[in-house]
Amino acid sequence: MEGSIDTLSELRAVFERQRRASRQESPPDHAVRCDRLDRLTAILERYEEDFVAAICADFGHRSPHESRLLDIITAIGDVKEIRRRLKGWMKPRRVPTRLHLRPGHGRVLPQPLGVVGVISPWNFPVYLAFSGLSAALAAGNRVMLKPSELTPRTAALMAKAIGEAFDPAEVTVVLGGPDVGRAFAGLPFDHLLFTGSTAVGRQVARAAAENLTPVTLELGGKSPAVVAPSADLEAAAEKIVYGKMLNAGQICVSPDYALVPRNRVDAFVGAAEKVARRLYPTLATNPDYTSIVSDAHFTRLQALVEDARSKADRLVEVRPTGEPPSNARKMPLTIVVAPEDGAAVMREEIFGPILPVLAYDRLEEAIAYVNSRDRPLALYVFARAPEERDEIIGATISGGVTVNDVLCHVASDTLPFGGVGASGMGAYHGQAGFDTFSQLKPVFYQSRLNGMGLLYPPYGWLSDMAGRLLRKLI
Ligand code: NAD
Repeated sequence: MEGSIDTLSELRAVFERQRRASRQESPPDHAVRCDRLDRLTAILERYEEDFVAAICADFGHRSPHESRLLDIITAIGDVKEIRRRLKGWMKPRRVPTRLHLRPGHGRVLPQPLGVVGVISPWNFPVYLAFSGLSAALAAGNRVMLKPSELTPRTAALMAKAIGEAFDPAEVTVVLGGPDVGRAFAGLPFDHLLFTGSTAVGRQVARAAAENLTPVTLELGGKSPAVVAPSADLEAAAEKIVYGKMLNAGQICVSPDYALVPRNRVDAFVGAAEKVARRLYPTLATNPDYTSIVSDAHFTRLQALVEDARSKADRLVEVRPTGEPPSNARKMPLTIVVAPEDGAAVMREEIFGPILPVLAYDRLEEAIAYVNSRDRPLALYVFARAPEERDEIIGATISGGVTVNDVLCHVASDTLPFGGVGASGMGAYHGQAGFDTFSQLKPVFYQSRLNGMGLLYPPYGWLSDMAGRLLRKLI
């Protein structure tokens, strides 16, 4: 297929071609970068409906509204905003110069790194491919993209559309599964962006280390929602259930579990159930509700529920009344009340519509619980009292935080997005993405008149005096 490469031998050849071009041609100027970004926008606009259909077929069913909003429109919005702000980001950056080095001055010059590899997952197959692609292209790089094999139709369409719009020396799509991913991660890229699971992230980091390739790892994990004693319970339940059922919970920053004051757990569960019924009155034939992406993931989620049956106070399965179980991998919201720590649902990232609700007595206990686990990618704080809000934010460390809502810090591209610890390293989105894929090269411009000569040997009274002066200035 045009624009895609299917064999491992071609992989190296395409990489070498991109690398040669990046070393031999001068860095692309603003106009070239804008043209590349415009071509990304054109692909998204031209193939919007095809992408929506491909994602739907890949998932079994994917809400077309969610595909348009969260894969296409968000990607177009990101590319357009990057384009609008690119000129400013590309400019040399002034930095203050210390007195003893003046009248020379320093600047930071952003330059392209060269060839960037992007490995993307299936859950937002277009958005997560294009967001890495647009940031790397804006920074003036060439890009090789390897999308997920779990969304093959979408990946093939991206390969076709990108092949039509870009020379393979600018952007190439590589199709394939874990074997191709392994070979891909072993290429000596100038930077590698990996979005996916923590387990595969470790393998990618290991492979990249062989080449000293810097990596940005956008991983997953268990993102808690802390409902503080002062929270508006109904509003918190609504937001958390929305975040849990959007894309059927298959979102890296979906609230994984909720921590709720013990005396409000029943009210919270009741409110959550009500919201789920209101947002999705039916499931099996509801076009708004998305399927679990594969049989393997569906079986994994069923196993989490089965395991929780004997390891939790109770389970609330919010199945529409009278509706038989769906054969379209549509899974109802399942609230798991007070699971044991050993329950599988509390040991691994859920990535589906299962919501464990944990009770706490004092806010410090909830904070200590979060801090005893891997650093989460996202943390959600629901609180009306500013002191509770600030206590939770200040005492926990996570990739990012949204207060009194879910997902919004990711949507705000003026905030850097990334994880910390087991949820990832590095960040992108907006200027953070441009900077991640740039060599921010420090340059010092010496002035014709300067005092450096005073420091040269042979050392004598003049260098002693210069040393004394320097001691005063620093
Ligand atoms: P995954 O780790 O299974 O796969 C991600 C990509 O890696 C795919 O393209 C896959 O083909 C490739 N791959 C598989 N094995 C590889 C290997 N050994 N070397 C190199 N590449 C390899 O993840 P997934 O199931 O596609 O996505 C779900 C996970 O991604 C969840 O953990 C979720 O939290 C996380 N995620 C994170 C973000 C984020 O921005 N932080 C966004 C979306 C998803």
